[in-house]
Amino acid sequence: MFVDASTFPAGHVERARVCIFGSGPAGMTLAHSLAEDGIDVLLVEAGGLEFEDESQELYQGTVIGDEYYDLEYARLRYFGGTSGHWAGYCRPLDAHDFEENPGVPHTGWPIGRDALDPYLKGAAEVLEISDEFPDRELSPNLDRTTFNLSPPVRFGDKYLDEAETRANLRVVLNTAVTNMTPDAGRVRSATVQTMGGESWTIEAEYFVLCAGGIENSRLLLWFNEQNDRQLIANHDIIGRYWMEHPTVSTAEVAVDGAREDIFDDGQAYFALSGALEKTHGVLNASFDIDIQAYKGKKALVADLLCIAPKLGQWVMGTEKTLVCGSRVHVQWEQAPDPENRVALGEEKDALGIPRPVLHWRKTTQDRRTATASTLALAEEFAALDFGRVRLFDWIDDESLPIPVDNVMASWHHMGGTRMSASPETGVVDADLRVHDLDNLYVGGSSVFPTSGYANPTLTIVQLSLRLADHLRTRLAV
Ligand SMILES: Cc1cc2nc3c(=O)[nH]c(=O)nc-3n(C[C@H](O)[C@H](O)[C@H](O)COP(=O)(O)OP(=O)(O)OC[C@H]3O[C@@H](n4cnc5c(N)ncnc54)[C@H](O)[C@@H]3O)c2cc1C
Repeated sequence: MFVDASTFPAGHVERARVCIFGSGPAGMTLAHSLAEDGIDVLLVEAGGLEFEDESQELYQGTVIGDEYYDLEYARLRYFGGTSGHWAGYCRPLDAHDFEENPGVPHTGWPIGRDALDPYLKGAAEVLEISDEFPDRELSPNLDRTTFNLSPPVRFGDKYLDEAETRANLRVVLNTAVTNMTPDAGRVRSATVQTMGGESWTIEAEYFVLCAGGIENSRLLLWFNEQNDRQLIANHDIIGRYWMEHPTVSTAEVAVDGAREDIFDDGQAYFALSGALEKTHGVLNASFDIDIQAYKGKKALVADLLCIAPKLGQWVMGTEKTLVCGSRVHVQWEQAPDPENRVALGEEKDALGIPRPVLHWRKTTQDRRTATASTLALAEEFAALDFGRVRLFDWIDDESLPIPVDNVMASWHHMGGTRMSASPETGVVDADLRVHDLDNLYVGGSSVFPTSGYANPTLTIVQLSLRLADHLRTRLAV
């Protein structure tokens, strides 16, 4: 049921059992799951029903470091959140993504994949995909992997009827949370502000911040600053270990197109085994090879003999149905680095909240993941005789920078309020509860301690369904 907050008198206090901020995949999944069980939920969304410049403008921010997308458009601020323009690629994290990688600092989750597996089916239903991901082991070192495609579900459309009609789900639009007041290890109340500047208060048994992978950090930093750091004692940890999935082309490939079992639909994804990653001291990476028919073998051989003699000889000596000219695109797991972070800038937005400054760089570890993984892929392709990979110059030559392709990263905003066993190393515990506070939770990919290579939304939805179970237990329903 939509509630018109413009009718609230000055000093109004709205009460709820659970109050959720943000109606993207994280917040909406949680709200729907709790409300379905009859729990009284208040869902507060900063934007309106549609995209509006005035609201979107509040997402402006600065990026310091590597070239990155304009923060104003790298996420969406209206009902349904960034699902309004996500592409729908879905895949769960691998089991080894949750484990510590001894070669890479700050890795490892306080939960294993077994904690999320029970929620895969439910999350797949929400995203309208199959919960089967039929990967194939091609060798002990290499898998052909699968992404399932959501239609893609637009959360604002999917749950609009429910938001209009369900009495125990109150939805307030055009209203942003701007502060939280601590009281004896709890959040006593939250302050919200309408686009028109009116302010009112919410009191709830539980609050859940689901404002997206940059805003969760930005807002917690700001709430803490406004309260002399009484919400989160370890203020410095908030916003740190922010991650993207960098993407870049690392090589060209000539493959045996007759291997229809591998390249059946013109495109195939590959990943190395977790064991091989640990041996090389690298993180997880996905290789996307989109094969295109190459017209003439003679021309191909001539080209290859000039630029890649060994590859040319392999082609000459083969009767294979060659497919060439394809690039190897890598989307990889960025190393968690405390220097990559969301911070508060000097300039404030129209609601008086400091705009975010995103510090983001690809690190030496990131380069190693991209290069060593591509080399390992090339070796596997040769050993299995699927094809031959010609590495781009920057892979071997450290003096060359990582090039910036048109698609430089994946619009995946992860980390910043990472899950950890202790408040020294993260913001939320294994249940997504802010370490120092009894009734404040965080939803979304900002809680990821590491990111695997899988697109994050399926995991976000799994985490929200798990959080719904946790809150049901605490609410004793
Ligand atoms: C172009 C693009 C393509 C993508 N493709 C994929 C893909 O193929 N696969 C995939 O898994 N992921 C993809 N993503 C990422 C995906 O969109 C996000 O992972 C997902 O939307 C995150 O969900 P969320 O609920 O955490 O945050 P969001 O969807 O960003 O929702 C946050 C919500 O919080 C609201 N909010 C913000 N501030 C406040 C406040 N102060 N008070 C109240 N509410 C607030 C916002 O208005 C918004 O509605 C893509 C993203 C983009 C931009």
